[in-house]
Amino acid sequence: MEKEAYCRLTEEKIGALKGIGVKRAEAFSRLGLDTVGELLHHFPRVYQNRGHISPLSLAPEGENASFLLTVGTQPKTVTLKNRMTITKFAAFDGSGTVVITYFNSRFLEKVFAVGQEFRFWGKVKREKGRLTMAAPIHEPVSEKLPLPDFVPVYPSGAGLTQKLIADTVGEALSLLEKTDLPEVLPESFRVGLGLPEAKTAYRAIHCPQTLAEIEGARRYFSAEELYLFSLGLALTKNRKRSGVPPVMRDLSLTPLLSRLGFPLTGAQKRSVEEIRGDMVNAEVPMSRLLSGDVGSGKTAVAAAAAFLAVGNRYQVALMAPTEILASQHYDSLAPLFSSLGFRVGLLIGSTPLPEKRRLKEALADGSLDLLIGTHALISSGVSFARLGLVITDEQHRFGVAQRASLGKDNRGGGVPHVLVMSATPIPRTLALILYGELSLSMLDELPPGRQKVDTFVVDESYRARLNRFIASQVREGGQVYLVCPAVEEKEEEEWEGDLIGFAPDGSTEFHYARPKKKTAVEYYEELKKNIFPEFSVGLIHGRMKGCDKEEVMRRFSAGEIQILVSTTVIEVGVNVPNASLMVVENAECFGLSQLHQLRGRVGRGKRKAYCVLVSSTDGEKAMKRLKVMRTTDNGYKIAEYDLELRGPGDYFPSEEGKARQHGSFSGRLNTDMALFKRAMEEAEKTLAADPELKKEENLAAARGVRQLFETDERAMQ
Ligand code: ADP
Ligand code: MG
Repeated sequence: MEKEAYCRLTEEKIGALKGIGVKRAEAFSRLGLDTVGELLHHFPRVYQNRGHISPLSLAPEGENASFLLTVGTQPKTVTLKNRMTITKFAAFDGSGTVVITYFNSRFLEKVFAVGQEFRFWGKVKREKGRLTMAAPIHEPVSEKLPLPDFVPVYPSGAGLTQKLIADTVGEALSLLEKTDLPEVLPESFRVGLGLPEAKTAYRAIHCPQTLAEIEGARRYFSAEELYLFSLGLALTKNRKRSGVPPVMRDLSLTPLLSRLGFPLTGAQKRSVEEIRGDMVNAEVPMSRLLSGDVGSGKTAVAAAAAFLAVGNRYQVALMAPTEILASQHYDSLAPLFSSLGFRVGLLIGSTPLPEKRRLKEALADGSLDLLIGTHALISSGVSFARLGLVITDEQHRFGVAQRASLGKDNRGGGVPHVLVMSATPIPRTLALILYGELSLSMLDELPPGRQKVDTFVVDESYRARLNRFIASQVREGGQVYLVCPAVEEKEEEEWEGDLIGFAPDGSTEFHYARPKKKTAVEYYEELKKNIFPEFSVGLIHGRMKGCDKEEVMRRFSAGEIQILVSTTVIEVGVNVPNASLMVVENAECFGLSQLHQLRGRVGRGKRKAYCVLVSSTDGEKAMKRLKVMRTTDNGYKIAEYDLELRGPGDYFPSEEGKARQHGSFSGRLNTDMALFKRAMEEAEKTLAADPELKKEENLAAARGVRQLFETDERAMQ
């Protein structure tokens, strides 16, 4: 009964909470928060360190800090010409006096009584030897109610203030307090890791008393996420594909290989042999992951697999995530297979209707051998006469739920072989965990003759030189990408000052100085108006409409845009051979694998290519990490290195530049490999005893897994 009360609470709409009307509920919804459960999982990114009191005399210049001050003079309000009012008084500590002002807050006259002590949070300014502070946050100091040292700063927006978010979370917490919260983690696992109970963790992450509490809570939620994720993975593994595979004999690949125009690399040969071993005289259908860096030649390997299938008179479906990529595959594979006497078709949204109908008929009567298209089209209402092999080209990290449905849509007798291509170089250890139900082929070697992209790691002091370099690239006829970590920023104030934050590896950073992030929209304006008015500057980011994005990319491809300011939307699937320079701003914000993908956008043509990583932290760790990019261009080495430093979080599906909006899975808390392995073992133990998660003690986890799968699917769209 009480457990049901918990479910009811977490699924309750935020609008049902005290103080939340329709307007505010809408604002929360714009932040991706609809239910009380989602709100409880809306974790602070940093905490203001208000317990760390600074004497006035040592006030940090231009930064928020905490002060313990006594009111020295009775507040007085004056009215200005524009009818604004200023309320003003002096306050002091043992080291000095500050003049504090508030605008349009006459009521404060009654709040600040001479002799009373307050804790202030704000920025002290020095003007002509006098200290002033405008509109600081104030909290009365009393013996009875000690003030918390750490005040959460939430990801905000949509006009919601920190105070409103905190109050609403507080409301949700007090309701949670009254319900019987079932534990998601098995007791022994939780205790073994020294983690708090769920309810304690919720309270601690939102209203911490001590730093240790924050750390414990973050670790708790990290373990919870990893455990649920592991359960999801393990469930997928248990659903290994079975059934009768298509019957295929071995045949010589020479007709195909001799038409490629190049000899295969060692890695390609090995992968082709592994695939051949899976497909020829198979007892179970192949489920193989072909992972390879951008440009490692996955298409040729896929072509060999397709040849093996069509040569055995089976049909092949090749699915790409976008129409552009599907068309590219068609352009490279159609001539090849046609010249070998096979029929190839392209089925995408823009294919004319009569042609679509013709293709579907040819598939159904078996006269079409190889169909290339997007995921959506191939899985919707197409029936094959003799489908023998499904190849999917995944440009993104792909999700658990999505994989569970691989190769299910089989109608034409036998369970088809499945080959998944992924462009994310992923360390073998992690691949074995994440893709445990798939066999693994790795293309860890690039074809010869690839040009190396010269890479530099620089700091702000190089800005002028960098701008000159950008200009010279454009004048020589090249094109430039400028990648920023964020689209726009509005909540600057709350992110400044004496903060406690967390490094990507989960470690705690005191006096967290958030580097000022370059934002695409503002940087674009600045470049266009002030820095490169003579060049054509473009802008692209994830919040633009699809058709607008395509138009910008078209203009960049056509050379009409010379400098393209963007977010990581250009990470994949863009091919502009004339682009010669990739600049990444705030490079320390990115995973190395992501930087590697970005770097892969240049050096695709004849032009000599460069990559400049601009880092605005002087953190030694961050610099050392980035310098790895200078010394290697092997995506697997880079991935291994970053896995050790940052943990596996980068490999979990996530939306551009932000934590996942729905559900709780962020993979961005203190996720380390060791914890992930333990969670995996625990998940397997749980499933061994309760394969369908039906037992009472696993119901909370079962719910969590369902939510995660749902989220996972949504994030992949
Ligand atoms: P990706 O793995 O990114 O899909 P592609 O299959 O598109 O890579 O191959 C990238 C380029 O490398 C293509 O132009 C392809 O023709 C070429 N290529 C592939 N394999 C070899 C090879 N063994 N030797 C020379 N060039 C190759
Ligand atoms: Mg490719």
